[in-house]
Amino acid sequence: MSLNLDFSYISYEKLLRALIVNDYMSILIGENGEAAKKLYLRHDVDTDYLGALPLAEIENSLDLVSTWYFLPDCSVYNVCSKNLMNIIDKIYSQGHQIGLHVDASQFRNFEQMTETIEKQYTYFSSFLPISKTLSFHKPAPWLLNDVSIPTWINAYQKEYYSEVVYVSDSNRREFWKEDRLYTAINENKSLTLLTHPLWWKEASLTSEELFEYTCKLLGTDVVGAYLKETCKRYS
Ligand SMILES: [Zn+2]
Repeated sequence: MSLNLDFSYISYEKLLRALIVNDYMSILIGENGEAAKKLYLRHDVDTDYLGALPLAEIENSLDLVSTWYFLPDCSVYNVCSKNLMNIIDKIYSQGHQIGLHVDASQFRNFEQMTETIEKQYTYFSSFLPISKTLSFHKPAPWLLNDVSIPTWINAYQKEYYSEVVYVSDSNRREFWKEDRLYTAINENKSLTLLTHPLWWKEASLTSEELFEYTCKLLGTDVVGAYLKETCKRYS
């Protein structure tokens, strides 16, 4: 089999429908499902937080659940902002799971990382519906090697990474043009499908269009607008 897809919402739905027809059961990362063909839908939200809800809604309309990882310290969005808190609440209320997307490169060592994520969890879980699950942002090779983080579910643990077929759209990879996905389907293997909302839009965009559209949508001139507003207020 082969799917003719692009990075449009219609294609994302088509892909999910193909997995349902092939007997996949979606399960949250960290849950122990009994399904023969498990489907771990995972999303890392690196930049485009506004693209999260449309994908979550498509999944929800098909009775699928997914795990969403948000950066606690992103330079583009703020998980403490009212807008994003509302988005996260909506995603959670559809039965999806929320976790932390961790950039391990900013820590001196493993201990410092685990201490920090514990503190972040204590703080963020006081107002966000997050679970103790994490995925790594741009992981160094050693982080892909079934690293155990006490009291946490790591999305790169073997159950969700090396023991399943792992398919990802990282770097805007058109994974439907490769064999991996079809191998999982044809050989009845469990699957982790990682997608980033940045790539997926109402209509599939070229890289140039995507750059322009996303900058406009998320606001490259946020600082400018803020200063303009502040200056006005205090002048
Ligand atoms: Zn990432």
